[in-house]
Amino acid sequence: MAESSSTGDRKQVVIVGGGFGGVRAAKALAGADVDVTLVDRTNHHLFQPLLYQVATGILSPGLIAPALRRVVKGQKNTRTLLAEVYDIDVDNRVVRSLGPNAQHIDLPYDYLVVAGGAGHAYFGHDEWAQYAPGMKSIEDARMLRSQILGSYELAELSTDDKEREALLTFVVVGAGPTGVEITGQLAELAQYVLPEEYRSIDTRQAKIILLDAAPSVLPPFDPKLQRYTQRRLEKMGVEIRLNTAATDMDAESITVKGPAGVDTIVSRTKIWAAGVKASPLATTLAKATGTETDRAGRLAVDPDCSVPNAEGVYAIGDMVSTVDRLPGVAQVAMQQGTYVGKQIVNRLKGDTTTPAPFKYFDKGSMATIGARQAVADAMGLKLTGWPAYLLWCYVHVAFLIGWGNRLGTLYNWVRSLRYARNRGHRLIDMTGAKAVAEQHEAA
Ligand SMILES: Cc1cc2nc3c(=O)[nH]c(=O)nc-3n(C[C@H](O)[C@H](O)[C@H](O)COP(=O)(O)OP(=O)(O)OC[C@H]3O[C@@H](n4cnc5c(N)ncnc54)[C@H](O)[C@@H]3O)c2cc1C
Repeated sequence: MAESSSTGDRKQVVIVGGGFGGVRAAKALAGADVDVTLVDRTNHHLFQPLLYQVATGILSPGLIAPALRRVVKGQKNTRTLLAEVYDIDVDNRVVRSLGPNAQHIDLPYDYLVVAGGAGHAYFGHDEWAQYAPGMKSIEDARMLRSQILGSYELAELSTDDKEREALLTFVVVGAGPTGVEITGQLAELAQYVLPEEYRSIDTRQAKIILLDAAPSVLPPFDPKLQRYTQRRLEKMGVEIRLNTAATDMDAESITVKGPAGVDTIVSRTKIWAAGVKASPLATTLAKATGTETDRAGRLAVDPDCSVPNAEGVYAIGDMVSTVDRLPGVAQVAMQQGTYVGKQIVNRLKGDTTTPAPFKYFDKGSMATIGARQAVADAMGLKLTGWPAYLLWCYVHVAFLIGWGNRLGTLYNWVRSLRYARNRGHRLIDMTGAKAVAEQHEAA
């Protein structure tokens, strides 16, 4: 078993998770008289809001996932560690993790920040994960890209009309921002990007269906923006089914229940953009400290983001619930990261006063619908179309890490969405098409 190296008498801060919350906490500790270990099971900081653009061939993975080492390169008190945390021993103040070659690595801490994020929730139907993958990692987005483009390849080869229809029917479950954004890009691919490239199929015949159990698309947005989004998607040929829930699915189809009753849609590609559940680290901490979790598995933290009954331990981001029921968005995780980082700095300076509770500053919400179409609810303004799209571009580029990634992303957007409407990152091999074909054979 390896143990974290500690330099002299300096206090040790361990941060679990190099996502939005973890990186902000690490940044807040730059220059502090402390050793920081940022541990993550991947070696990169993932900008999840743009994963759908990797899945639809607009961006390459590297542009939205800089290496964590690079992110904290200039921060001399911080090291990164590629390892998966499997336990947190709050009595002995040790984080237990497994390194890449399965060696146990123990990380003693004086202060601990846990920012493990969230995964998908299939509402008690975990078996659906194999038929309707979601997007949480670069691997998920790559697999989805293979599945989407692989379906077009198989359809081009097929001589059976029914099989072609099944291959060219794409169903997205969940009409929140992620569901709307991927649906818009599926429609763009079918309508504008692919038509001239295939010889046996008309990609414009592809059916794109977006469904949600809620009565509107983008449930948390203003009704005016919801109506605009629905109209735009329908103009792009998307079939929207609201008040409609998935009740069953397999490799070949998805069964839904809506106002018109039960319907089985034959479709080889289903995409999950519905529920989320907290990282299992929330349950680990809950068990270790006797703290509650909510229905989504999120740990109930105190107003200062500290974990009850665990001295020096904070939890932030998607894996926690707060009394003011904050949404699971990047801004919350980032602001909480900065907040707990500053608290630790104050504690290190000997400040023992109770900190003011964490207060979220809501900067607004936005979602893209298609090329040059978006909705934004920010600074009291309800924007649609071009202005919303430009604001969306600005905000997303600004929050990417690294100038190279920002410029590369802008270049790809101008190329893909404004001028050629080409997608420069559509590389797949046989894997995706094979997976679609094999699932069909197994069914
Ligand atoms: C497809 C998609 C689109 C989104 N779009 C938006 C959007 O448009 N706007 C918005 O505000 N938010 C959006 N979100 C939500 C936003 O990405 C999250 O709210 C945010 O990432 C939460 O930050 P976090 O630090 O809590 O977790 P994350 O950013 O998910 O980071 C968690 C980190 O912990 C690591 N980790 C987890 N478990 C372990 C372990 N056991 N050991 C080691 N490392 C571990 C993971 O590898 C990851 O790096 C989107 C999310 C998704 C999935």
